[in-house]
Amino acid sequence: MKVKDIVIAGGGTAGWMTAAALSHHFKGKAVNITLVESSQIGTIGVGEATIPTLRRFYHKLGLTDLDVIKATAATCKLGIEFKDWYQKGCSFIHPFGIYGQGTPEVGFHHYWLKAKQSGDQTPLSEYSLGVKLAEESRFTLPSDKPESQLEIFDWALHFDAGLFAKLMKEFSLNNGVKLVDNKITKAVLSEHDGNIASLTFEDGSSLSGDLFIDCSGFKGLLIREALKTEYEDWSQWLVCDRAVAVQSETTGEPLARTVSQAHQAGWQWKIPLQHRMGNGLVYSSKYISDEDAEQCLLANIDGKILHQPRKFSFTPGRVKQAWHKNCIAVGLAAGFLEPLESTSIALVETAIDKICLSFPQTQQPVQYSQQDIARFNEVTALEYERVRDFIILHYQANQRDDSPMWKFCREMTLPATLQEKLNIYKNQGEVKQYPWEIFGKDSWLAILDGFKIYPERYHSKADNMKIDYLKQNLAYMKDRVKKSVDAAPSHGEFLKKHCQFVAKS
Ligand SMILES: Cc1cc2nc3c(=O)[nH]c(=O)nc-3n(C[C@H](O)[C@H](O)[C@H](O)COP(=O)(O)OP(=O)(O)OC[C@H]3O[C@@H](n4cnc5c(N)ncnc54)[C@H](O)[C@@H]3O)c2cc1C
Repeated sequence: MKVKDIVIAGGGTAGWMTAAALSHHFKGKAVNITLVESSQIGTIGVGEATIPTLRRFYHKLGLTDLDVIKATAATCKLGIEFKDWYQKGCSFIHPFGIYGQGTPEVGFHHYWLKAKQSGDQTPLSEYSLGVKLAEESRFTLPSDKPESQLEIFDWALHFDAGLFAKLMKEFSLNNGVKLVDNKITKAVLSEHDGNIASLTFEDGSSLSGDLFIDCSGFKGLLIREALKTEYEDWSQWLVCDRAVAVQSETTGEPLARTVSQAHQAGWQWKIPLQHRMGNGLVYSSKYISDEDAEQCLLANIDGKILHQPRKFSFTPGRVKQAWHKNCIAVGLAAGFLEPLESTSIALVETAIDKICLSFPQTQQPVQYSQQDIARFNEVTALEYERVRDFIILHYQANQRDDSPMWKFCREMTLPATLQEKLNIYKNQGEVKQYPWEIFGKDSWLAILDGFKIYPERYHSKADNMKIDYLKQNLAYMKDRVKKSVDAAPSHGEFLKKHCQFVAKS
């Protein structure tokens, strides 16, 4: 199928990121790109915590970290703190970094386990620079030439979603993307092959195209409503189906981490930005009413509330074919997994990467085949399932005894892929990595350790180090991490010095 005109339906975070990346990929020449958005409808307006892949995304566009932070009132995110998830009163951090320094033969956590089994109770987190910086809310850029693994960590952003979409929009328009502000009333299908031929607008005008990217949000205007693509519902594992969100004034210096706190029938996020806080409660309508959920959220916010709470409802899952006919769904139109690990925008990035890979030609003829479609759908399914499994683990591993929701989650039957991963870890101490996982071994380890899930034994190769020598090494590593943390400025100082947000009037 030849492609000359690409139409992007929707101008939220997904739409403008897609427009920016495709206009960059095609260098504004090989194809015409038009984005349709409706100022009457607006965007979802949440989606403010990210993972480090976002930084790689805008680096490819030529944008720097400091520019993006300044433009989007962003703060630096070293990871997520999970409060009260394992049990009330317990908390741990999932960092974007690694733990300790292993050897070529065997990973660090096996040495740590060996020390633990011989009575050393030092937590795994003491060997992670990412965790320790996050705990103390200090921040410095990671060294480009780390002297050892102990200096390695990664980071992401908390940003204002509206300002980020604006940045992507400016980039796209400068790169030749055309904008249509109109409400789509219909997608007209071709009688000949069932492809989308054109979009009809409220004022009677229309726009035709060869390839349509559906970024229209939860409703999936093209992929679901017009092309009737089926949706795979994952609510048997992910019981939360609602959210309520509100912004509040900041109080004190921003944390360099997202906070996720479990409550009786869901969990609350706190996302610090430079100019305000983002807050929300994700919950299960089966276990709490909308009114009680809103009360729960409002009772747990520190600063002054800035507007009326906004409500969302969703079905966790994904469309079975993210690319169907001549339409590719990106963003909420493609599926939704709750924002527990800030993965929605990351899945937008992976979708965009796959679109670019499907079109290696940067001059005409630009074309795709049925094989491209099949490959795109196969990889998308795996990416979503891997993220789904990661999120389910947070729920299933809880040891809370205060509500039926947590009991249900603890007792549910897991997807086979997650069960297999857990079995391997418990029996052999290895974190099995499947193809197309967004989260690496150390992320899985952070969650397993946070929920106190340990293998029966450590790898026998860890016995290549005598216990006394191992203990000396561990003490050295802990000290090195502490010295690096002590040398770093506070997160607030870092932002003020390098990338303070100044609101444009
Ligand atoms: C409660 C909640 C919290 C979240 N938190 C996070 C998070 O922390 N991190 C993260 O990565 N993700 C998060 N997400 C997901 C994130 O918000 C989305 O993935 C991201 O904003 C992309 O949304 P979108 O662009 O697909 O949809 P939207 O923002 O809904 O954009 C849809 C666009 O389509 C247009 N449109 C719709 N209908 C029409 C029509 N008929 N005619 C013309 N235009 C139309 C709209 O005008 C709009 O421009 C969260 C989501 C929710 C619900």
